[in-house]
Amino acid sequence: MQAHASRRERVQRAMSKGDVAVFISAPSLIRSNDVHHRFRQDSDFYYLTGFDEEEAALVIEPDRCILYLRRRDPEKETWNGPMLGVDRAVATLEIDEARDINSFRTDIPTLLKNRETLYYMFGRNREMDFFLLETSDRLLRRSRAGDFGPSKIVHSALLLHEMRLVKDRGEIDKMRLAADITADAHLALFEKTRVSMFEYELESIIHEAFRKRNATEAYPSIVAAGKNACILHYIKNDEKIGADQLILVDAGAEKDYMNGDVTRTYPSGKTFTSPQRDAYQVVLDAQLNAIDRTVTGISMEEVHNLTVRDLVGGLISLKVLSGTVDENIENGTYKKYYMHRTGHWLGLDVHDVGSYNVNGAPRKMEPGMICTVEPGLYFPDEADVPEHFRGIGIRIEDDVLVTSGKAEVLTARIPKSVKDIEAIRSGV
Ligand code: CA
Repeated sequence: MQAHASRRERVQRAMSKGDVAVFISAPSLIRSNDVHHRFRQDSDFYYLTGFDEEEAALVIEPDRCILYLRRRDPEKETWNGPMLGVDRAVATLEIDEARDINSFRTDIPTLLKNRETLYYMFGRNREMDFFLLETSDRLLRRSRAGDFGPSKIVHSALLLHEMRLVKDRGEIDKMRLAADITADAHLALFEKTRVSMFEYELESIIHEAFRKRNATEAYPSIVAAGKNACILHYIKNDEKIGADQLILVDAGAEKDYMNGDVTRTYPSGKTFTSPQRDAYQVVLDAQLNAIDRTVTGISMEEVHNLTVRDLVGGLISLKVLSGTVDENIENGTYKKYYMHRTGHWLGLDVHDVGSYNVNGAPRKMEPGMICTVEPGLYFPDEADVPEHFRGIGIRIEDDVLVTSGKAEVLTARIPKSVKDIEAIRSGV
């Protein structure tokens, strides 16, 4: 809990005297009829509290933090398990004050009174947005009585998301754990995949590896055999695996609110076919270069642009594209084969927060930032694509921690060289 308390203090230090910040817990989402999705706390809220119950709110003032939460309810606890409750919250969460969530709305006018700026994540909860705007307006209209309310509302991302971008030691440890569980799943797939299995059977191997270590999927796993790998967000996972196919698996574990995000592409049989191997090596070389380039001071934009150069050079050597690298980049011909970015921030959210640009220029990497490195090539089944490449889709994705020296690959335990993958596949 200490980490959460020190994050709240950092937020307080970033605030001015007349500021107040309000954070609302995630809503409970309905899957169908009266069945709810498994509750997952809002990432910002969890970052600041470590509290994973619904119907809660956090108010941060420059010199005080108040958590609003549900009172314990024996009947609810019978159905849904223990609740922390107001009485235990101060000690457990090391928070200054805990209050009943039922008094949150009646307290808000007092909490916003004579505050100049309200930090709040507007745009997510229409009803709460309106309530806070209306309350602020009502306070402002009482200026004749000498009171006022916030005349400025600032998106709370501005306070928090820069902080979340650079991970603290505790977060890095949790990322290592999420990466390790993610590695278990990919290694199990290398060993257990057989021709004629269905994609969903591989998905069940992923689930088993995650649940064995009390983790869940960070996002719906992509298990794509053959040409399905060319569908970037393929999650149907219901087709049969054929001989001499490549299988693209994009799967990551969420553990303690931190997320792995890894892709491997491997043969359904013991070895890659020759065109598969040639295309795979192009992506792998580009990925290894991109990881080497992921160092303090470079921007993700630069890494991406250099990766595009590598991939275009590869596509020319594979005789998929003709002409020079510069011509192909200028004309965008490569976008038919590589249409996504090379990486994204990773952390409490799979596509983690933090802007990619600062003051109009691409943000430079700093130690403690974590990102994915994930080049790919996708060859559609179309007449102008060399026949032997048609329907091949390859992506290789690792999770990388930026340091003051070489980047640390958190998911390095999962093999990716042709030699290492074929060694496992031939031995099974
Ligand atoms: Ca991914």
